[in-house]
Amino acid sequence: MMKIGFIGLGNMGAPMAHNLAKAGHEVAGFDLAAPTPEGVTKAASAEAAATGADVVITMLPNGAILRAVAAEIVPVMKKGAVFLDCSTVDVESARAVASQAEAAGLMAVDAPVSGGITGAAAGTLTFMAGGPDTAFEIVRPLLDVMGQKSVHCGAAGAGQAAKICNNMILGATMVATCEAFALADKLGLDRTKMFDVVSTSSGYSWSMNAYCPAPGVGPKSPADNGYRPGFAAELMLKDLRLSQEAAAAVDADTPMGARATELYASFVEEEDGRGRDFSAMLPRFEKRSRGR
Ligand code: NAD
Repeated sequence: MMKIGFIGLGNMGAPMAHNLAKAGHEVAGFDLAAPTPEGVTKAASAEAAATGADVVITMLPNGAILRAVAAEIVPVMKKGAVFLDCSTVDVESARAVASQAEAAGLMAVDAPVSGGITGAAAGTLTFMAGGPDTAFEIVRPLLDVMGQKSVHCGAAGAGQAAKICNNMILGATMVATCEAFALADKLGLDRTKMFDVVSTSSGYSWSMNAYCPAPGVGPKSPADNGYRPGFAAELMLKDLRLSQEAAAAVDADTPMGARATELYASFVEEEDGRGRDFSAMLPRFEKRSRGR
């Protein structure tokens, strides 16, 4: 059993920390605002949670906050301990924090997740990890408690790279799936027939087959629950923006990712998308005509 510091006990962090405690680990948790989940000991500060821990896990909103927390805890962490960041952040921040940790005699792993709040509660997240083999092997039993699958993608930053590439595909395919349903409506094609064809033809994708944006069609999804998230449109926008930041940094041409980013930005910032599931792009397209 390990001694774990857990910083960031929000929607995702709280159930993850709770699952680690339930599995018998000794977990000290800290959050600026959120309550401490059952089984986790409340620490007075980030430093207090990190002091003496074998592994410190962070689950924070963005790269700037991750860097600030790293600056506080890296100096107090014990030599050889692992800094395991599970937040979704920019690749550059992940690499900067890893170098800082290594320079202080620690090991670092970036391991963002997919699976959302339901996956965090059920312990069925997928982790995509970047960092040295030794560090990955140390944290693997913890990843196995919090999730059902972890892929070691490469060196520092590789986990974040995998996450944003995956979510760039997801954002673009969701937009494509929603615009196709809106086109089908205007062509007089029944939505169930459209699903029956596409879900078993070459247009299939996770967005269509597992998370169909049309209510009453395909398996149960947020569309069947008034588009309550699920995966909120603003979180999709965050990940798409990270993909475009990364693409700009390495001069990669990503026109579909760029267009999906623009569409989610208008949806969240100028329309009624904030707080709705990212599949609510379908009612958005339904209301529109060509050119506006
Ligand atoms: P959240 O806002 O619910 O939780 C973040 C927590 O961090 C908050 O409780 C906040 O008080 C705390 N915090 C902020 N600054 C802090 C500091 N300096 N010290 C200590 N605590 C601090 O967010 P979330 O939904 O739990 O997401 C966390 C991360 O997981 C994000 O990077 C997000 O992109 C990623 N993620 C979220 C989902 C999802 O479905 N919610 C899915 C996959 C990945």
